[in-house]
Amino acid sequence: MKHNGRAFSRQELNKKRLRPGTKLQVACLVQVRGDSEWYAAGFRCRSQSSRQCCYLCDATLDDCYDMRETGPHRRTCKSHIQFLAECCRDMRQVSTLFRLPGLKLWHFTVDGMHTYDLGPLLDILASVLYVEQTWRPVCLNMAVGLQTINAELQTYGRAVPELTQTHLTQSMITPQDSKYPILIATAAQARHLVGYVRQLAYRQVGYVDRPPIVLRGAMTAHAAQYRRLVVQLCDALSACLIRSTRSHLMWRPVGARS
Ligand SMILES: [Zn+2]
Repeated sequence: MKHNGRAFSRQELNKKRLRPGTKLQVACLVQVRGDSEWYAAGFRCRSQSSRQCCYLCDATLDDCYDMRETGPHRRTCKSHIQFLAECCRDMRQVSTLFRLPGLKLWHFTVDGMHTYDLGPLLDILASVLYVEQTWRPVCLNMAVGLQTINAELQTYGRAVPELTQTHLTQSMITPQDSKYPILIATAAQARHLVGYVRQLAYRQVGYVDRPPIVLRGAMTAHAAQYRRLVVQLCDALSACLIRSTRSHLMWRPVGARS
């Protein structure tokens, strides 16, 4: 199954399969690819939810959002030996994969698509969209909210035509089998929604022609935290995506859509 719930087509399934009976070559491991959760579970790397949230450097939850080249955590990157020494110090058992000759810490790359586009990004996007829909001074009801959002998305899409255009439905924002809003979308759809959702977040905190949003019920006490986090996250996401989208656009065939 794909992440949007659709099945892979036969063509997609056959694309990378070897024919039965193909003789395999001697292998060389050049990259381990996974998300942070798998690295923590499978290789005893630091968990992304711990205070020091990165296994490659000493970033903390306070400074890890600084995505700039000058971000303070970039000066604390670990060497392979340092990583192994810290595992010994903290009595974390290192994976036997590290016995492979030549395998170093930097071969463990973070799969951006699964870690980020299909991870917290879906959560963040749906939360901002849902809060907007339920903000009664602006949206009469959920359906009107959705309509307004889709109309704005269309306008945004005309202004930035190189992005994937998405028409949102209610079940994409609040799926029936989830207790909280989480977007049902492909990685590209999610990534390309960030610019628009960032604008929504700016409106929700009162940066643009609207008073700041007031959350109700159990969320009342968290309104300030929501507003701070949502803008911080959307800014970081968009800074990061602008960089990756630009490099992606550079090699995209002329005239091709994403
Ligand atoms: Zn790091």
